[in-house]
Amino acid sequence: MSEYLFSPPAIASVPIRGRSERFAVNRIFCAGRNYHAHAAEMGSSVNKGVDPPFYFTKAANTLVPSGATVAYPPGTKNYHYEMELVIALGKPGFRVSEADAHQLIYGYASGLDMTRRDIQLFAREKGRPWDLGKDFEESAVCSEVVPMPGVALERAAIALEVNGTTRQSSDIDKLIWNVREIIADLSRYYHLQAGDLIYTGTPEGVGAVVAGDHLTGRVEGVAEIALTIGPAE
Ligand code: MN
Repeated sequence: MSEYLFSPPAIASVPIRGRSERFAVNRIFCAGRNYHAHAAEMGSSVNKGVDPPFYFTKAANTLVPSGATVAYPPGTKNYHYEMELVIALGKPGFRVSEADAHQLIYGYASGLDMTRRDIQLFAREKGRPWDLGKDFEESAVCSEVVPMPGVALERAAIALEVNGTTRQSSDIDKLIWNVREIIADLSRYYHLQAGDLIYTGTPEGVGAVVAGDHLTGRVEGVAEIALTIGPAE
């Protein structure tokens, strides 16, 4: 006997390298402006120690697996990629110190924070929420999760190509708030849970894509990611 009027949505999940179990996704947190060169290309600057980090979220049902073809989304004429390191949490934590933050880490993935840039910038200018620009269907692309329990990554090359041409190339050692700092800071505001994903922010070189484009990216030592942009519906 079902308790629900209609079938509830499936649990969002991503594959785990080397395991048959999948990584069930709870929440998706995304850090904004976490590389100086990207903040600059967006017309901002970050003064760490004065400006706190900030975040937005995407619903778990925005997840798209690596290798997918997504429809060019509605309501935008400036659809952007943002290549990011993703932290996958395997343990809960609240008010965690930077020194203990690694204990929450299950592993890492490569992610694309797909963005309706025109809508995000309009919202930013008007002081409105970023949801329409960031939290939309098929906007959170994620590779397999690679188990690296308890490892706080400090450096790894991060890169993205569009149709084979390099558009983003940096290193996660340029994160303004690093893996430990992001986890500790988020845990001041949320009871972090196993299954939470944290997109750590994108380096410089973001740009627009159009139908037919093929994106490939990677975080060195973590995972490859790929996405194809299909026509608008
Ligand atoms: Mn981003």
